[in-house]
Amino acid sequence: MSEIYSTFKSGIDLSPRSRAFWRAAQAGVWLIGAFILTCLLFFPSLGLLLFWNILIPVAPALFVLAVGVWRNVCPLATTNLLPRHFEFSKRKKLTPTQLGKLNLIAVAALFTLVPLRHAVFNNNGPATGILIISMAVIGTIMGFFYEWKSAWCSGLCPIHPVEKLYGGNTIGSLPNAHCVECQNCVVPCPDSTPNIHPISSKKTLYHQLSGLMIVGGLPGFIWGWFHVPDETTISSLNSFLSVYKLPLLGFVATSIVYIIISMMISTKYEQKLISVFAASGVSCYYWFRIPSLIGFGKFPADGLLINLSNSLPEWIVPVLNILTTAFFFYFLVIRKQNNKSWVVRPPFATKEKQQVVA
Ligand code: SF4
Repeated sequence: MSEIYSTFKSGIDLSPRSRAFWRAAQAGVWLIGAFILTCLLFFPSLGLLLFWNILIPVAPALFVLAVGVWRNVCPLATTNLLPRHFEFSKRKKLTPTQLGKLNLIAVAALFTLVPLRHAVFNNNGPATGILIISMAVIGTIMGFFYEWKSAWCSGLCPIHPVEKLYGGNTIGSLPNAHCVECQNCVVPCPDSTPNIHPISSKKTLYHQLSGLMIVGGLPGFIWGWFHVPDETTISSLNSFLSVYKLPLLGFVATSIVYIIISMMISTKYEQKLISVFAASGVSCYYWFRIPSLIGFGKFPADGLLINLSNSLPEWIVPVLNILTTAFFFYFLVIRKQNNKSWVVRPPFATKEKQQVVA
């Protein structure tokens, strides 16, 4: 653990030991990712269990507690930043409008792809594997053209809007294990800006729309998503579209609530309101997800990791729900904003050193 935090005190640079530690961690997580991907393609039952019922359920809590860990070791990031690490990237910079458009497409992709889990991905390992490979190919192609994390990790990645919503008050800043020097490729940089949130930048209409959709829409979308069963066969267009109805209804409902409240309160409370919606989203996720993992789900076969329904009392479910909800509201809403970024910004590249970071 000391390597993880070795740059806390010294400030901005990675020590050789810390760099070696993070490279080993990236390689290890990349190999785990490759193993899960291989299982999804060739041993779907195991792959689906590892990916959807172990890796993905851990992710929201990790984003809340220490999203910097994931930003440093995500196997997709490790893959698509290889062109930049090996100096093959053209290192172009995106304009604010281009970044805003990528952020909006990322949010739209999230809300489009997640309901498809019920229709396709939750029960189809090869389809999930192909989805992951497609994202790796798109991210890597972008990595050949654009500077550091700008195009994929902080742009088009459909998981990034969730990182920005949940990661607003993490435990502390880790070293940045990817960017060697800061090229100011994203302003504000989600990795390096303390207490970042999805509406931190309102530069363009695209930024504003993507921020509004993820903050306002996600809690209701999650609620709706958990009320749709996994469809093993899609027999008609109607049954295919049915996986979108409840998530969309929830999305619209909480978006309206968010818009009304945000119009009623002063802007100084905006961050607090975003924290409340973030806590609502992650609490709602675990409210349904933990029971389904242990056999108490609304649809017993969906999302099951281990069936403990015969060995645990039923009151365990409300107890777990209250505990997780209380924890996330404490952590994200009640706890003081700690002014920490996800990772520590590396030294600015020479030509950027004099620039003021917006
Ligand atoms: S730390 Fe600097 S170089 Fe790295 S992603 Fe952020 S802005 Fe870009």
